Amino acid sequence: MSIMTIALNAQEKIAFKVSFPAPQTHYAEVEMEISGLKGDYIDLKMPVWTPGSYLIREYAKNVEAFGAVGPGNKPLTFNKVNKNTWRVNTSKSQSIKVNYRVYSFEVSVRTSLVDESHAFLSPAGLFLYPAGKLNLPSTVTVVPHSSWTKISTGLDKVPGKSNTFAAADFDILYDSPIEVGNQDIFEFSAAGVSHEVAMYGGGNYDKEVLKRDMAKIVHEQTKVFGVNPNKRYVFIVHNFNSGGGGLEHLNSTVLGASRNAYNTGPGLLRFLALVSHEYFHLWNVKRLRPIALGPFNYDEENYTTNLWIAEGFTAYYQNLFTTRAGLQTPESFVAGLATAISSVENQPGNKVQSVSESSFDAWIKQYRPNENSANSTISYYSKGSLIALILDLEIIKSTQGRAGLDEVMKAMYDEYYVKQKRGYTDKEFKDMAEKIAGHSLDNIYNDYINDVKTIDYSRYFEYAGLKITNANARSNEPYLGVTTSLRDGKIIITQVARGSGAWNDGLNVNDEILSVDDYKVKKTTAGSNELFAYITDKRVGDKVNVSVIRDGIEKTMEVSLLRSPALRYVISTVEKPSDAQLAVRKRWLKL
Ligand SMILES: [Zn+2]
Repeated sequence: MSIMTIALNAQEKIAFKVSFPAPQTHYAEVEMEISGLKGDYIDLKMPVWTPGSYLIREYAKNVEAFGAVGPGNKPLTFNKVNKNTWRVNTSKSQSIKVNYRVYSFEVSVRTSLVDESHAFLSPAGLFLYPAGKLNLPSTVTVVPHSSWTKISTGLDKVPGKSNTFAAADFDILYDSPIEVGNQDIFEFSAAGVSHEVAMYGGGNYDKEVLKRDMAKIVHEQTKVFGVNPNKRYVFIVHNFNSGGGGLEHLNSTVLGASRNAYNTGPGLLRFLALVSHEYFHLWNVKRLRPIALGPFNYDEENYTTNLWIAEGFTAYYQNLFTTRAGLQTPESFVAGLATAISSVENQPGNKVQSVSESSFDAWIKQYRPNENSANSTISYYSKGSLIALILDLEIIKSTQGRAGLDEVMKAMYDEYYVKQKRGYTDKEFKDMAEKIAGHSLDNIYNDYINDVKTIDYSRYFEYAGLKITNANARSNEPYLGVTTSLRDGKIIITQVARGSGAWNDGLNVNDEILSVDDYKVKKTTAGSNELFAYITDKRVGDKVNVSVIRDGIEKTMEVSLLRSPALRYVISTVEKPSDAQLAVRKRWLKL
């Protein structure tokens, strides 16, 4: 950054105004006033991504009708320097006003959406920042559409100014989504923090149940760290016909939920697990974080090999906390682990990509999945949660219950977030885990984190007097190795499993399956089930002739049926657990 491009001086002020004159057209109108300028020009930039969601989203693609004026509304010239940078020739004006509008019509927790019913603002895709000046404070004045009455955000209000909020710097601004509309708001207090829940989209939730259960989660999580760093916290919940997913922020979160699932046990638990996940992030990743994740570079990918800690540990803890909070039974938690292990071990990519590689390549793999992803990648969420599990059990066992993964998380938080005020390196995390375990964790790191060796689950469950068995061990079921879906009445192959007969003998994704042997696979019913039922009646080693249409041409391939490698793990208690095993189990599940 040359001196010339730094056009702001110490008195610089930035004030945004965002309005929605025609929300049904999905535009947010943004006005940006900058005063205290010096120099000939200023570069204004739009982030290309938003923290927590590791994908270059090119938010600048939604910006249009950019313009700038100086004093007396005199138009200023500008040009684009690159995809996300506008250079405004300020002609020595001390204050300028920039206007642009942002097309906002992508439903997700990390993109803005404006329609007749509400505006959800994801700030990284809405507000420009002056190049090199992310440390500047700014204010945001929200002008709700005339039919809207409420604003929910983690940003602080500016006293005496209605609908105006302050951000101490651009990291805070970009970390503070804003919901504008007629959301249903309720509040609860827990761990000394006031919590606002802003429900958009309606739903069959029971506010009293949610207040009670969400407070339990807050209590359990705060206990681990001994401190809840917020005074106020906001849950923005978007209720859809079918929804899920969330995005974490410093003092707020955005959750997607299914509006009519709150009144069933599993539906409610799914929502509470998401609450538990995103809330735990206020410590793990928003404050205790890999060194690459803050301060952020909004211009490009920010690489870390540690998303298995940031996301995987959070995925592990989300369910541990719902268990500790009494929202699910320990048995159901343990059954969930068996399902998670089966799912990871059944994915061929688990033998190809390590969790540290998966973390580093999130930008091009986890967030850009394709038809071959299951064969070549493993999720740092699911595998990372299993790393958390074995580390937790290992530490509890080797310290005779004096410590567990909780103590590693708290010690890391105290050392790197509170004391050193920075992120941690790979080595620093490992060092702390080893210090608390009292021994080297090289084997776990070398084999399971940085390599793709199969985790010795039995060893870790045995510490807690549990045993894990594969219920499919004796099965000799044949399989074809394809996943299909019904598209326009046609049975289309959507995945081919690495190492299967389909893989070896040349079936392709996008092939339309016509028949297997002389058996016409019916198109009008749940065809995939019929296909698989036919295969199930065959034997391992049999060959079948699969006729497909590929790019308009019919082909028949002979495919060998191999033994299905599908594992189905079950976890049960050992017959006579020792006192030591019972002590580990008790400590682990906080029974
Ligand atoms: Zn997460």
